[in-house]
Amino acid sequence: MGMLEGKVAFITGAASGIGLGTAKRFATEGARIVLADLQDEDGEKAAREVEALGGEAFYVHCDVSSDESVRTAVERAVERFGRLDIVFANAGINGVWTPVDELTPEEWSKTISINLTGTYLTVHYTVPHLKAAGGGSILITSSVNGTRTFSSPGASAYSTSKAGQVAFMKMIALELGRSHIRVNAICPGLIHTNIQERTEQRDTEQLGIEVELPKGSPALNEGEGDPIDVADVCLFLASDLGRHVSGVEIFVDGGASLL
Ligand code: NAD
Repeated sequence: MGMLEGKVAFITGAASGIGLGTAKRFATEGARIVLADLQDEDGEKAAREVEALGGEAFYVHCDVSSDESVRTAVERAVERFGRLDIVFANAGINGVWTPVDELTPEEWSKTISINLTGTYLTVHYTVPHLKAAGGGSILITSSVNGTRTFSSPGASAYSTSKAGQVAFMKMIALELGRSHIRVNAICPGLIHTNIQERTEQRDTEQLGIEVELPKGSPALNEGEGDPIDVADVCLFLASDLGRHVSGVEIFVDGGASLL
């Protein structure tokens, strides 16, 4: 019997990387999975990959920065599986990494609306269903970059969105405890996914220091982590193993934040 038998998990940003890795991990523990993303082709393919592990999976189009899109996606998820028990607000972008005086208001807003407002919208529309199920677990993908390890000059919008997610997580953990809903954040260090190639770095010479993506996890191993390293921590938090854990951020960075 799997650790998530009978549970339904709603995962945003599930077509790729950490979201997909976690969808697969949860499926192997018996959960039924809703994969929400805006890349429809990759999302449908991802759902088939998750189903191949033996569970039930359903892809739904969802732009987390759009109120209407999240509301509709959550409705479709509940129509399909009848309930929600686990919510993983994971969709995110690095956006543009550039000096703050070069970062345009549109670029700032895009990163904040996907990473931070998208987290709020995902929680806002799913919480009624967790309450209806008698409780549940919410996970939020923040980053070491939003908490302690500011190793990426040029990432002002990204870091702000990721720090905001941690504050939001703590506040709703306090609010939702009485509804038996636990809320926690994962703070990955460098994880091997598609996000790096989707990052635009611009005007880096103006910083006086080179803008660079974070370098791996030298404290415990030589390089970056894999989505499965994050997925295993998500499983702990989503399952009964984490039943007495709420309102915390857990670093999954191979010890990089120690440096
Ligand atoms: P990824 O690019 O492989 O996957 C991100 C997924 O989010 C993609 O499938 C993408 O289509 C989806 N997405 C983007 N914008 C969306 C939107 N508006 N609505 C719905 N889906 C959207 O990257 P990843 O590394 O797996 O990123 C997942 C999360 O992990 C992000 O929040 C990211 O900030 C965080 N994170 C990643 C790292 C890392 O090193 N990979 C480190 C720290 C934090």
